[in-house]
Order: sequence, then structure tokens, then C-alpha cells
Amino acid sequence: MPQAASSSNRGSSAKERSLVDVCQYLKGVGPAKATRLRNLGISNVNELLTHFPRKYFDRRNLTPIAEIPTGIETTFVGQVLTSSNRRPRGRRNIVTAAIGDDTGVIQVVWFNQPYLLKHLKPGREMIVSGELRHFRGQRQVVNPDFELVGEDLDEQLISGGRIVPVYPLTQGVTQRYLRELMMRVLNDYSGVIEENLPSSVVTELNLPERSEAIRAMHFPDDMELRDRALMRIKVEELFYMQLILTLLRRNRANDTRRRRLDVPFELAGRFIDKLPFELTGAQRAVLDQIKRDVSSSRGMNRLLQGDVGSGKTVVACAALLAAVEGGAQAAMMVPTEILALQHYKTLTPYLDALGVRSACLIGSLKPADKRRVHAGIADGSIQLVVGTHALIQSDVSFKDLGLIVIDEQHRFGVRQRAALVRDGQSPHLLVMTATPIPRTLALCAYADLDLSVIDEMPATRAAITTRLVPPAKRPAMYDYIRQRQEEGEQSYLLYPVIEETEKQDLEAAESAYEELSKGPLKGARLGLLHGRMSMADKDRMMTLFSNGDVRVLVTTTVVEVGVHVPSATIMAVHHPERFGLSQLHQLRGRVGRGGREGYCFLLTGENVGPETMERLEVLVNQSDGFRIAEEDLRIRGPGEFLGTRQHGVPGFKVANPLSDQRLVEITGQKVRQMLEEDPGLATSDGKRCRRHIRAVVTEDMITQMTA
Ligand code: ADP
Ligand code: MG
Repeated sequence: MPQAASSSNRGSSAKERSLVDVCQYLKGVGPAKATRLRNLGISNVNELLTHFPRKYFDRRNLTPIAEIPTGIETTFVGQVLTSSNRRPRGRRNIVTAAIGDDTGVIQVVWFNQPYLLKHLKPGREMIVSGELRHFRGQRQVVNPDFELVGEDLDEQLISGGRIVPVYPLTQGVTQRYLRELMMRVLNDYSGVIEENLPSSVVTELNLPERSEAIRAMHFPDDMELRDRALMRIKVEELFYMQLILTLLRRNRANDTRRRRLDVPFELAGRFIDKLPFELTGAQRAVLDQIKRDVSSSRGMNRLLQGDVGSGKTVVACAALLAAVEGGAQAAMMVPTEILALQHYKTLTPYLDALGVRSACLIGSLKPADKRRVHAGIADGSIQLVVGTHALIQSDVSFKDLGLIVIDEQHRFGVRQRAALVRDGQSPHLLVMTATPIPRTLALCAYADLDLSVIDEMPATRAAITTRLVPPAKRPAMYDYIRQRQEEGEQSYLLYPVIEETEKQDLEAAESAYEELSKGPLKGARLGLLHGRMSMADKDRMMTLFSNGDVRVLVTTTVVEVGVHVPSATIMAVHHPERFGLSQLHQLRGRVGRGGREGYCFLLTGENVGPETMERLEVLVNQSDGFRIAEEDLRIRGPGEFLGTRQHGVPGFKVANPLSDQRLVEITGQKVRQMLEEDPGLATSDGKRCRRHIRAVVTEDMITQMTA
């Protein structure tokens, strides 16, 4: 094993170091920075080392400004000559800077980022990476990545003259800080990075060793080495995901603790009779499958796919009631608190009428209420509970959880699914999603689940008309929104939130709210809802919107999934180009739910290119969510398929089962081979695997799964 190169970690030797060392005690971190790093999901050295760059700047060869080519991303260094800031009437704010070197000058432009101006002091040197284009005879680079060049020598060494990593950041953590920290930690810890793949896999696939790969992910000497490193890390992810899923599936199939729910579905039947509509054929067919699952000895492990508005919730509720009828508890887990409260409010009248005792469990409950719900869950007096992640925290222990539904699954990964099986419980599992799952993704992220599809829409679902709205048409759109709200209809005005610049986008929704309430929507019943509000405020605002006191809701993607306000008829999306098509389809699914025709307005900007227009046109012409997903996949490629806000697939940092199809197959084969030769994971390679998957599932489970 290679020796640690230098020793700056408070004098401890390589031997004492471990990848689970907490970051707070690393040189240059401390409590304040440690808190910041935790916002990036980094609390220990291992998490730090697997916080991979989102891209790289190749600073080995900088391009003179006169020679910057068009159409490809290029990096150059120059001095700020002049900088200014303006806001043409009714348009976006524009910051411009002239950047020059010995060979020439180029104009750099940023939209909507006025705060940048203060960094662009004339005389400062900066490194810029972006694509050159020509605009009204000017050579321009628009919205580039840039960094100010530091004075300090260390920084020059790490940030200049080489291939430089560019990391996802958070407030209070700069590129420069992270690069220096990463370099130091790599030096100090490379000696304790152990190989975690079976040696047969490493040899047969000719992969670099783990420690070598991790270094090359951060500071590659050339991009070929980095690509090999990337492939290795992908193999790790895909191999282990498939190994765990295979073990989970095997485990569930042999699980004798699972309660067979051999009940007549009488309670569910009464619930369905009370509904103001008939179930569709597709809903009935899925319910039959669920009935067969829960009464069989194998139990239910099912993934239910159905387009937005296809009526998954009632199916879920019927399934939950089957568990209650069988004398067990039932839970429904959803991704947001808004959604949990909403489902709970919709379901309680039915549950009360059926004599089912229910509760809602979300993180922001008052401590006393939370304790009461926890107690009711533990002693079994609560039969059915709707909640968020709060349901699977370790302080929640069900007396007898018979069945769990996970709604809008795309935010739940295998770790969460695995966490459901603990404390000697093994509930039936129904996972629901509106996003269609392509085969390779299903193979490697959902291989432990059977699949059903609801492929029919309720007849009452109104059509939604989708229109592109260029800037010139906006006033007319606002007039229309105002007019509709006077008729009692409601609108969502949606603004994107992007993780890395959450603050800035929050300002976008907030300042839009200000502007609209003074300008085009003055006097309208306007409300603001965003992710940073307290749960109580969010809930208050949702209630105001549901009962019509607020009729125009300025908001972010907190309303993306599942929210149901029947009198909402208009969804106006700002910056639609920042969303995936499937996500936009989800968003427009929020309207037209009350039988009245719905409208989706996509507000295009001044600078949208032809590709963006082509993409958005798909939504105008297509209402089938599955078709839209296919188109999205075709146009954007798999990398971004799951939406801009959520890069990648839960459980994967670098692998993308959609685009890494070959690797999915190869690693799947390795997993099968391994389990055939060593079903109990008892050889030295097997033990290595055990050690690794312990991070995801408990040792207890591994023992069960390999028994
Ligand atoms: P999703 O599948 O997107 O979760 P929901 O379950 O929220 O959809 O259902 C959307 C709306 O359609 C709800 O108001 C629900 O009550 C209604 N609905 C569900 N099934 C039917 C049906 N068979 N006929 C008419 N309306 C239905
Ligand atoms: Mg839903």
C-alpha cells in the first residue's frame, strides 16, 4: 500500500488515520467550515474524497484572447479593463466586463447576477471558461464560469498550470478552499484508501486501484487517466448497487417474517364505494395485482408507474387499508411536507368514516405532537400514518408495520428501501412514480421490484393547453391571469430553484413577487411560497391557496410533485429551459385537476436557441408523459434525463445507468458470477464486499441475505 506523502493532519501518522475521520478535525476546517461542508453532504474524509468535481478546467494551455475559437468551451486569462451594470427597462439585469490580454479584448456578459459587479474591479486578473459567440459584431462570452486569480503561491500551484477540478459548492465554501483541502487530504489519506472491489473484478476489467482512481478524479494528470478513474468509480457504484438489490430481492423472497395479508379487501372496497367516481380499468387491474402480491408468500415489492393524474393515490390508499384490515399498521411516505399534509387532509374524511385511526408525521411537528404520534405508532393505536422521511428515522418504531407506500419515488434510493427492513419487520412495499423508468435504469436501480403500470387516465381529467409565451406576449398573459382569478380560477407562477445558487433563485421568486404585486398583477390575490419558508408558513400559504383566498401563487418547485388544488387552471413557468421535459410535464399536471380546462404557459426568454425551442415544442404537442420522457431522453441524452435540479439517479454519484448501459451489463454479470461462486460472501473477496455494503445495509441484514 502506498505511504501517505506528507503529514499535516495534526501530526497523526498514516496508521491512525481512517476514512471515517470527521472533517471538523482536519487542518484548515474547524467547526464553522465543518457545518458548511455538511451542507454539501460531507462530514467525513470518505465523503470529502468522493465529492467529485462537476467538471474541470484545462489550464495547462491557456488560449490567447485573440485566438479563442467559437463554439467550444475555452479557458483564457485576462485582466478586467472595465466593468458595468445596467438594467434595460423590463429586462434582465446585465453585467458586462471587458477582459483583455496582450493579444486582444473580449466582452464578458452575465445576465441576472448584479452582485458580480463588485468582484470585477478593473486591474484584477481572472480565469474565464466559456463559449465564444458573436453578438452584434462583438466577440462575447455569456454567463461563463470564472475565477479571480489569487496572489498566493499555493493557490497558483493547485489552481493554475494543470487540469483543475471544479466542485459543486455551497455558501461559505469556495473553489479555492475546496481544492486546497482536497489536495491536502489526498496526500494525507491516500495510504488508507483501501481497494473495495473484488480483486477478480479489478483484474478482469483492468481497472486502476481505488486510491489511484480517487486521486485522478480530483487532480488528473491528463483526461485519459481521469476517464479510466471515472470508469472505475462507476463500476464500483453499479456493481454494489446490483449486488445489494440482488441480495435484497433474495432476502424478501425468503422472508418468513412478512405477514400474508389474506384479507377480502372489504375495508378497501368500502373506501372505493365512497369515492365520488368509478375506478378506471387500469386502476382496478393494478389493485388486483396488489391483492395477489400481499396474499402470496413472497409478498409485495412493486413499483407502480402512472402518469401525472392517473390516480395513483386512491390505489395506494386501498392497499394501505388492506394492511389495516389484516390487523397491521400501514404507512405512506412522500417526499415533501406539503404533500404529506395534503394527502393526509384528503384521506382523513374517508379514514374517519371507516373508523381507521390515522396520523400525519412530518419533521416540523411540535415536539409534543411528535412524541404523541411516535407513541401511537409504537403502541399500535395509530393504524395508518402519512409522512415524510421522518417516518424512517431511527426514533420511529412501528409496533407492526405491514405495508408501506412510497409516493413519487424518484427521491428515494435503495438505502431508504433497505432501511425499511429493520427491527425484525418486513413490510409489503409499494413504490409509486410518475417518471417512466427505462429498462437499464430499472435493471440496476429497481431490480428488487416488480413493475406495474397505470396506462389509462380518468375520464374527468381536463385537457391542458400548452403555449410558449415570448416576452412581448407577457402583458397579455398577466391580463389573462388577472381575469381568470376574478372568475375564481387560480394560477401558479413558477420560478426555478437551482441548488448551487439557491439564494439567487430565491431572490428571483421573491423579487418577482414584489414586482408583480406592484406592476402587472397589482390588486390580484397574490401569495408567495418557497422552500425556505417554515413549514407552518408553507402550510398556511397552501391553505390560503387551496381555499381560494390566494389566487395567484408565486412559487418554486416546492409544488412540483403531487400538489392537488382542483381550482388551479394556469401554470406559468419562468425559465422553462432550466427544467427537464418530464419535470415540466409534472408541473403542468398541477392544473386542470377540477374538470376545468387547464393552461400551461412556458415563458421563453429573449435568448433561447433553436434547440430549446424544439424541446419546449414537444410539450406543446404531446400530452403523454411516457412519450415526453422518451423525447427528453432522445433530445438531451440520458445525462440530464431526470431533471436539471436532480443530476443523476439516487444512489449514484457518477454512474448513470441510462447512459452506462454497457457497464450495467458487465457489472451485473460480475455480480451473478460472484454470488454463484460465493453465495455466502465468505471468501476474501466476499468479505471485502460485505465490508463495503455495510455502509448501506446493516450487518444483520447482510447475514440474513447471505444465509
Ligand atoms: P397521481 O397519479 O398523479 O398521483 P392523483 O392520485 O393525485 O394522481 O389523482 C389525481 C386526481 O384524479 C385526484 O383528484 C383524484 O381524486 C382523481 N381521480 C383518481 N382516480 C380517478 C378516477 N378513476 N376517476 C376520476 N377521477 C379520479
Ligand atoms: Mg401523486
